Amino acid sequence: MNETRKPTKPAVETPVNPNAATILVKLQDSGQYSKRRDIVSDSGNKYRIAIRKSDRRWTCSCMGWKTQCNKKGTDCKHIKALKDKYGPLLNDENKMFKDVIEGLKAIVQLKNTSTILEAWTAIREKAEMVAEYCTLVEDTTKTEAFTTVFKQAKVVIMAALTEE
Ligand SMILES: [Zn+2]
Repeated sequence: MNETRKPTKPAVETPVNPNAATILVKLQDSGQYSKRRDIVSDSGNKYRIAIRKSDRRWTCSCMGWKTQCNKKGTDCKHIKALKDKYGPLLNDENKMFKDVIEGLKAIVQLKNTSTILEAWTAIREKAEMVAEYCTLVEDTTKTEAFTTVFKQAKVVIMAALTEE
């Protein structure tokens, strides 16, 4: 008689819960960590995430990360959610801000309706991501620079949209 083997469960990717983490405050780099941020989870708990300088890995102060993810080399649900939502921003914040601010500045200078709308379509997704990000972080110099130019560009974009 053949011994019946227990069927192995197919690996199912758990979907990312976008509300698992929201960024509260951006903090200064420390000796061992960069990109430090305080976050709040959907259950209301506060955690701190950061990139560990020694191996460039995202870390989290939650129990799941400490007891499992750290050993396995995986991300906890908070880091997963934030990577999913703000991936390009979390990885290269300066570049993202620079790109979007330059794109919006260019729009402000444009005169032709269809050119304005084309330029807006090209950066819209990024600009909206940065806009949402700005409401979540406390990094005044950068968010102010973005907010100012975004306001100016919006006037131009809205005018172009009504003209179309
Ligand atoms: Zn976590």
